[in-house]
Amino acid sequence: MSDTLVLERIEANLARLRLTRMGEVLSDTIRVCEEQAKSYLSFLDDLLEEEVARKEQRRVETTLKISGLPFIKTIDEFDFSFQPALDRRSVMSLFDLTFVQRKENIIFLGPPGVGKTHLAVALAVKACQSGISISFTTMEDLIAKLKKDHASGKAGNARSYYKSALVIVDEVGYTPIDRHECNLFYRFVANRYEKASTIITSNKAFSDWSELFTDQVIVTAILDRLLHHSTVINIRGNSYRLKGKLQKEGDKTYEHGQ
Ligand code: ADP
Ligand code: MG
Repeated sequence: MSDTLVLERIEANLARLRLTRMGEVLSDTIRVCEEQAKSYLSFLDDLLEEEVARKEQRRVETTLKISGLPFIKTIDEFDFSFQPALDRRSVMSLFDLTFVQRKENIIFLGPPGVGKTHLAVALAVKACQSGISISFTTMEDLIAKLKKDHASGKAGNARSYYKSALVIVDEVGYTPIDRHECNLFYRFVANRYEKASTIITSNKAFSDWSELFTDQVIVTAILDRLLHHSTVINIRGNSYRLKGKLQKEGDKTYEHGQ
């Protein structure tokens, strides 16, 4: 059989096996390996590396798409010089993701616009790239989902917001929650306690949580479990959203609204 026919058959077989990247780079890889007199071993290695990298890239893209992230940003896009009071080293150390292995929590506190969601998203992106299952939800959506599952008699434990190794609950504190919702959130937190990691962002200090959560006993139990194994990052800075505006207005501290 001629080389051309063999190449065509290989390409057809690669397509059948859905090894598309190998099909794309086959001719070039053959040429480069011939030019550089590479061994069969490194030829096969080069091809497989290409395929695995493509599959991995697709997995990350798909997972990020369905994970509920409001936007995709990385830690490289975070300007630490804008938040000088934020300890760069302790934030960066979270990105080794050992907190996920240790089933610990992270809580980002601070006023609107200081980058709480950005940092939570960046950790989720890194976790996803490392093969950790992630799920992102706002507190409002989480409560709605928990209520729906409770009403339909489903345990909810099979849901991604329950079973993911890393769940991000964004914007705790924007809406007050009633006694029933408080109970459901407690169950959520208690279920994940020492079993999986949760990242929380909130614009409210812990001392204000009891006001927000109606039931004082339950809020204590919630905070107890959330904080037992946790890192709390308090960001006390200006809103990045008002960056240009603040400079124009002479660096006033931003206090109200989002
Ligand atoms: P928060 O959740 O604290 O209200 P966000 O994380 O949503 O704030 O930040 C608001 C916007 O500003 C986002 O687009 C975010 O990417 C951006 N942002 C915030 N802080 C920074 C920063 N230090 N460097 C770069 N972008 C930032
Ligand atoms: Mg936010």
